[in-house]
Amino acid sequence: MPFDKIIKIPNENVYLNCIRCGLCLAVCPTYREYKNETDSPRGRVALARKSLEDELILSPNLVEQMYSCLDCLACNDICPVGIKPADIAMEMRHVAEQVKPTGWKNTLFGKVIANPDHLELVTWPLRVYENLGLRWLVHKLRINKLFPEQLRDLESMLPKQPKKPLRKALPLISHSTNESKYRVGFFLGCAQSLMFSEESAATVRVLNRNGCTVITPKETVCCGMPAAGYGRQDLVIEHAKVNIEIFEREELDVIVTDCATCGSKLREYGDILENDPVWSEKARNFSNKIHDISEFLMAIPLEKPSGKFDARITYHDPCHLRRAQNVWKEPRALMQMIDGVEYVEMPEADWCCGSAGSQLITHYETSTHVLDRKMENLKSTGAEIIASGCPGCQMQLMTGIQREGLNIKVMHPIQLLDQAYKSQDKEE
Ligand code: SF4
Ligand code: SF4
Repeated sequence: MPFDKIIKIPNENVYLNCIRCGLCLAVCPTYREYKNETDSPRGRVALARKSLEDELILSPNLVEQMYSCLDCLACNDICPVGIKPADIAMEMRHVAEQVKPTGWKNTLFGKVIANPDHLELVTWPLRVYENLGLRWLVHKLRINKLFPEQLRDLESMLPKQPKKPLRKALPLISHSTNESKYRVGFFLGCAQSLMFSEESAATVRVLNRNGCTVITPKETVCCGMPAAGYGRQDLVIEHAKVNIEIFEREELDVIVTDCATCGSKLREYGDILENDPVWSEKARNFSNKIHDISEFLMAIPLEKPSGKFDARITYHDPCHLRRAQNVWKEPRALMQMIDGVEYVEMPEADWCCGSAGSQLITHYETSTHVLDRKMENLKSTGAEIIASGCPGCQMQLMTGIQREGLNIKVMHPIQLLDQAYKSQDKEE
């Protein structure tokens, strides 16, 4: 295999250490589903090793085993000898892409997703569908019930579309509404701007209320997670450099994001560029400033809202928040500080929901099976609201809720705090 041009290949000093103990099998959603060794972290490590040692060809089937991984990182966490099978699966996607490049990925990740203007243009039909009332009509006439099951699920995963992307609506500088104590850079993720704009608008309001002047640069590009998931580590590096340079222009205390996926990738920039003599220090400084919104808010003297939010609420841990960033106490604490919130912990709250970005499109059966289990756990809580801070998870949860015909709302934890402040303001 021609390895010389490949940016990142699995390190044999790591994967050779696998002691085949099988601990990772117990936490792997794809193994739990299929009970096949090849669908397990240990199996994926073994396949990678055999392929890198030229004992197995890098066949489409072998590559598929790397793509069927949900990148939930549970195996990375549990492995007693530090193998990180999830990382190996991602690196093998990159190896496969370099050995046999796929043209469409260049267009999608290098041209469309890498440019916010292009991304807004290609998602324009979704805003038309929502805002001209076509979606309402489709549901009213129950036309969506005639869609094939997968298309119906994909349609139901769409949140209410904003009239325009938040990137266009937010000012560059949003001033603190009281004495400014922090200069906060806000990394507005693509999905947050295009799909969940109400959440990110709430994020900025809450920050402003808590002594933060918020700077939201408009030229930022995708964090790089989609390109990484499809084996284009080269594009992740390009995206990273663009984003680092943009935030470097501002004097900032921290950089906050309300997207778990973006946060985990932005925190990796320091590692991704650590061997680049020009970028390593800048990348490390950038990554060190990244904070999830709940993590940042719980670290500052946050105004406790006196307004109430009466609801029974549970929480789903996004894998890339809990495992990649070790942020799990903070969103729970943030919600529980609100009067009226009856918080109930969901069984297996930290198990993957089956989203993994695009698995509902590419691995429909696995994705929906993993989701069905999440729905059983959700139903057992009796919650009216499930909160989660990742757009991919939220869309997946919305799909599951619609599939089951449940009356449960999906929200970002920041929206609950924002609502509590709003109710406080009304009372005053
Ligand atoms: S990857 Fe780690 S946890 Fe899994 S079998 Fe190998 S040593 Fe055990
Ligand atoms: S990341 Fe998740 S799905 Fe992938 S091998 Fe590890 S435990 Fe299994």
